[in-house]
Amino acid sequence: MPGRGIPANTVSTVNKTTSEPYVGRFAPSPTGPLHLGSLVSALGSWADAKHHNGKWIVRIEDIDPARESPAATRQILDSLSAHHLHADNAVSYQHSHSLHYDLALNTLREQGRLFACTCTRKHLRALGGSSYPGTCREQQHPEEDKALRVRIDEETIQFTDLVCGVSCEDVSRSVGDFIVRRRGPLYAYQLAVVVDDARQQVTHVVRGADLLDNTARQIALQRLLHYPTPAYLHLPLVKDAEGRKLSKQTGAEPLDNTSALSNLRAAWGLLGQSCPPKSLNPSCEAFLTHCRVHWSRARIPTSNH
Ligand SMILES: [Zn+2]
Repeated sequence: MPGRGIPANTVSTVNKTTSEPYVGRFAPSPTGPLHLGSLVSALGSWADAKHHNGKWIVRIEDIDPARESPAATRQILDSLSAHHLHADNAVSYQHSHSLHYDLALNTLREQGRLFACTCTRKHLRALGGSSYPGTCREQQHPEEDKALRVRIDEETIQFTDLVCGVSCEDVSRSVGDFIVRRRGPLYAYQLAVVVDDARQQVTHVVRGADLLDNTARQIALQRLLHYPTPAYLHLPLVKDAEGRKLSKQTGAEPLDNTSALSNLRAAWGLLGQSCPPKSLNPSCEAFLTHCRVHWSRARIPTSNH
């Protein structure tokens, strides 16, 4: 039921109104198998979409071959399937979307906003400061083999996350001109995600809170490319005993697909949602029906963001 339970003050100029059809997505990078933290994102995005009678799509973000493997893609898709989280569209793969990313880069180039950057990380670190100082803006380096940055004007971007509330950020100050194509060339995450969310008509981006601070950059790109801005909802992160975010890099345990129902129950609990007694939901399907009906954004914990 679109719009149900959403306070009026969560709809701002940059968030879609909720009268449109809902399209949500889960977009993992195939750098390793899913763990409990990724299941929280998968289940949260699925439940928010299904509770609002929406579509849920799966997109594999495989634009960095050095960090990824086809085996991990298979593991992720097998794991989603074992947990009965089935996408409504065929799974899409970013590695096959180069044409669309190039078209978006062309649009930025025509606006005179792209420039090649030769700065090394070491050089930028030595300069101190958290944002790119604009060193190469006027240098007109040839593009070949260089990172490409997009010129960002001063502008305060305000958006309302459906859980975390209002954020304001001037990207020109916090990050500066940021990279949209890396050396290689490799498409940058910010560019690929913005192009695909627009192409796939994603209306709601529900994902882990580690990406909250990417949102203003993505909205800045959406504005330059004349794309609509979806609604955003950032889910709490799952942390290990040392307080580190569960991730493949910190050696998070892969999900055991033979314990799908208990994994789903654990993820549901971490989303702050109430689990029915085990006897009422003896199967994954029955449990997911409960999730679809009883999902509540208001219960999502705001800590661990
Ligand atoms: Zn530079």
